[in-house]
Amino acid sequence: MSSNYSLKDGKENIDVLDGGDVHYKFPAVIELNVGGVHHTTTLTTLTKGGSHMLSAMFSGRHNVAKDAHGRFFIDADGILFKYILRYLRTGELPCSACAPQVYREAKYFGLEELQRHIEWMPVMMARSARIQFQEKLDGFDYNTERILQIASKKQCVVSEEIVSFCIISILHEPQEILGVDFDNDHHCFADLPPRQIHYCDMTVGPWDMSLKHVTDRVYLRAIVRELMHRGFSITFSRLGDCAYLSPHPPRVACQRRLFKFIFHWNDSSS
Ligand SMILES: [Zn+2]
Repeated sequence: MSSNYSLKDGKENIDVLDGGDVHYKFPAVIELNVGGVHHTTTLTTLTKGGSHMLSAMFSGRHNVAKDAHGRFFIDADGILFKYILRYLRTGELPCSACAPQVYREAKYFGLEELQRHIEWMPVMMARSARIQFQEKLDGFDYNTERILQIASKKQCVVSEEIVSFCIISILHEPQEILGVDFDNDHHCFADLPPRQIHYCDMTVGPWDMSLKHVTDRVYLRAIVRELMHRGFSITFSRLGDCAYLSPHPPRVACQRRLFKFIFHWNDSSS
């Protein structure tokens, strides 16, 4: 289509086409302000890779806002944008460490091919496998958040290190009937030598026992992995069995397994 006339608007021209539609013309070299970070690239790079937000923005069909210095403004993460540009220029994928963040940006910009490439990176496949496994574990999100709530309130200093504890008992059956005078609502505790009583802070379970491979340790390790992924420095260990006994003969022991989560605050990134 031929243009009737063109207007100057800063660096780009605006062509008014027959019928009144406008076509924005951009320079070959584009100065960008992405979330406050400046980038320089070419129009060819920005419009590569098929249909996505950037190719649409610089297709000529839309006016693109400029900052006070005449740079085209994009409201996105300016630091991560370098990975987007690098991919558009050369096809290079981001490093494993920043792949999850770049994936979110690729989604934002509608760069579907980049998204697919990142999904097949080991770090993203591991992340996906972890999330799929977590979704099979009853109460996983609730239990993880509950552990954090308890840890946030129970700091102490052990061997000059700031730590938090959370003691967890494991319940395998919804209603364990262990005797007529066995108190199902008792507060589980470990009785460790020399006469140290450790009361549990919360109970995990029961979960779907048809998942035979999900033992106590497998379930709790999944929580540990999730918390470590979030940046916590955390260890867990078996504390023993609950020492509660029903009050009258034949005295029945609770024996629920108790585990101890320890958050190491000194080692965590602050
Ligand atoms: Zn108990």
